[in-house]
Amino acid sequence: MPYTAAMHRIVQVALPTPLPKLFDYLLPQQTPMPALGVRVSVPFSGRRLIGFVAGFTPSPDLDPAKLKPIHAVLETTPLMPPDLWQLLQFAARYYHRSLGDVLTSAVPRGMRASKAVQVRVEKDAPYVLKTSGVARTYEQAQILAQLALGPLRASACAPELRKALLQLAKRGVVERPPAQALAQSANPSVAPALNAEQAAAVAAIVCAFGAPNKAMLLQGVTGSGKTEVYLAAAHAALARGQSVLVLVPEIGLTPQTLQRFQSRLHARFAVMHSALSDGERANFWQAARAGQIDVLLGTRSAVFAPMQNLGLIVVDEEHDSSYKQFDGFRYSARDLALKRASDLGIPIVLGSATPSLESLHMVQLGRLQRLWLHQRARAQNMPAIQLIDIKMQQMDQGLSKAALNAIRETLLAGSQALIMRNRRGFAPRLSCQHCGHVVQCPGCERPMTVHRAARALRCHYCDRQERVPSACPQCRSDALHAMGEGTERISELISQHFAEWPVHRIDRDTTSRKGSFDHLLAQVAAGGPCILIGTQMLAKGHDLPNIALVVVVGADDGLFAVDFRASERLAQLLMQVAGRAGRAETPGRVLIQTQQPEHPLLQKILRQDYEEISVALMQERRITELPPFTRMAILRADCKDFSMLQTWLKSAAQRAKILLQHAHSKNAVLVYGPMPASMAKRAHRHHAQLVLCAPTRAPLHALLAELTVQLELEKKPADIHYALDVDPYDD
Ligand code: ADP
Ligand code: ZN
Ligand code: ZN
Repeated sequence: MPYTAAMHRIVQVALPTPLPKLFDYLLPQQTPMPALGVRVSVPFSGRRLIGFVAGFTPSPDLDPAKLKPIHAVLETTPLMPPDLWQLLQFAARYYHRSLGDVLTSAVPRGMRASKAVQVRVEKDAPYVLKTSGVARTYEQAQILAQLALGPLRASACAPELRKALLQLAKRGVVERPPAQALAQSANPSVAPALNAEQAAAVAAIVCAFGAPNKAMLLQGVTGSGKTEVYLAAAHAALARGQSVLVLVPEIGLTPQTLQRFQSRLHARFAVMHSALSDGERANFWQAARAGQIDVLLGTRSAVFAPMQNLGLIVVDEEHDSSYKQFDGFRYSARDLALKRASDLGIPIVLGSATPSLESLHMVQLGRLQRLWLHQRARAQNMPAIQLIDIKMQQMDQGLSKAALNAIRETLLAGSQALIMRNRRGFAPRLSCQHCGHVVQCPGCERPMTVHRAARALRCHYCDRQERVPSACPQCRSDALHAMGEGTERISELISQHFAEWPVHRIDRDTTSRKGSFDHLLAQVAAGGPCILIGTQMLAKGHDLPNIALVVVVGADDGLFAVDFRASERLAQLLMQVAGRAGRAETPGRVLIQTQQPEHPLLQKILRQDYEEISVALMQERRITELPPFTRMAILRADCKDFSMLQTWLKSAAQRAKILLQHAHSKNAVLVYGPMPASMAKRAHRHHAQLVLCAPTRAPLHALLAELTVQLELEKKPADIHYALDVDPYDD
């Protein structure tokens, strides 16, 4: 190719398309060279797309005459700070997704539009102190004195004071942070004196400031004081002038959590979760980018927040599966948080009562330093766990006599009881007593759930809804019965049994609005005897100090699930739900109803020794060569036509095998499948997969890199959708 002057003016752009490559564009003559990471708007197959400048080395086989010019360069400074840019580059490589897709999904949608981003500040947003400034007038001194006590709205000031406030704003002494940045609450609380183990944990974290690559696992049961350790560590980071990122599970981000941080730390806070609007996200992004946020509390996607001067990352309940994104760009926020901390050389603390086997494996390998909190912080007994063998018992709507008696005792003693049943709706099946037919969703081939109040059958996999039939669709008999118990049925029974006490059902059907859930739980936390019935939403996060009894219904479902993580998850869930009981002065009780009281996993849960449980689970995984002892990726695909799906996956498997034959380490990667996915059919689409495993990461990722390029560039039937899931989880 002849050398042309135009080659100096070519930029490579990462675009939001699945194609795993960068695209070359010409830079117009008058336009200055954009920096790496700056967004540009470009023409792309008849559309305009926004992409990121990701390189300056044109592809070798390039014909500059065919290149299109960039429409516009959208900013001068990149949206992402360098560490975030680096993290996203890594994520694209690790998860084998196009860089453009990854970069685009990290930026709030509100900022993807091509117009410049406006930071909206609420009209009468309060002012806060930005730097220590000297008052030049008597009024300014008055304002500064007021601001020292907390934020101040201009509307709350007398006219001459308002003038002084505006003067201070002009001088940059005070500022109005965007709505998301919340100040410390007005009534600060004092940290308790830490116990020896907490102090040792804090010391270890503080020592890690400045020491490269210090990742820690803080292991302690619910109530052992992990949050106090986070607070002390965050305090230390803030004192160094650095910011703090705290990741919490989807359900763990409660007003209580925020309040606890706000009442302890003198800092500018922000909260980031999935319910924010696009505009709020854009505002938040700008504030974080400008260094106006000191402490960010957020769910999964907050790992991509453009925090300035980050000094500490905390991942609370690190085992929680909500850190894994289950569609689109399937990343693990926990794993990326570890990477971000390691890139920055800052400490990261993963906290859990029941750590994931992945993290425990890293402890064994010496990559995570384990910090223990063995006791509950306030002297308290662990709850007593009991199994109730329901094989022999007469049951009333899924509840044993023993459970009903225990609930009554608890209420009479003035405490609260929680019934956990991980199935919402009235009954999981509608079945015909006459011919045995079970009404199924035609799209998913799974039983439909009866929802009595809504008078509907609903499929929990595809949200299909239909009327409850009056006769059996197969034999026309009217002997249709709702079989099994969901939360709706249990709460009906409980309301009849315990009419004198309030009964609250908490599941996705009763709490569609996030606020209502928080509100109800706050009420319960402060209130007297009552009964809570809910799904696993209830097991996590919230501090409900008056709960003295937890009844677990239907735990057996988790003992025989296909997912290889099912036992781990069940153990984590049961230990966590047990942690709900007896946080207050009364020691708690946990009753687990089961048909399998002799099951080894349940026996271990009785002893409440997660260490023992995890050692056994780890042993199982080692023998069966499953993660964390193997590296795994799943090529998931779906299609309306079953044989088309099989053919496509077979050819993908064939490709993988051919690539492996040319690789240095021929047999390093095992390719299994095609096999049906755990949900083989969903909303009329067949789902199947290839599972790829290797003892180490390198050969697997080398294969995936080539395979994804081949699959993306090759023609495939239009109806086939596929996605690669690296370090997969079943949702
Ligand atoms: P975790 O995060 O492990 O569930 P928390 O940090 O929430 O535990 O602590 C549980 C309770 O014990 C909280 O009410 C907390 O204020 C209190 N607590 C924690 N550490 C101490 C301590 N050293 N002294 C007194 N109370 C403490
Ligand atoms: Zn029938
Ligand atoms: Zn369905």
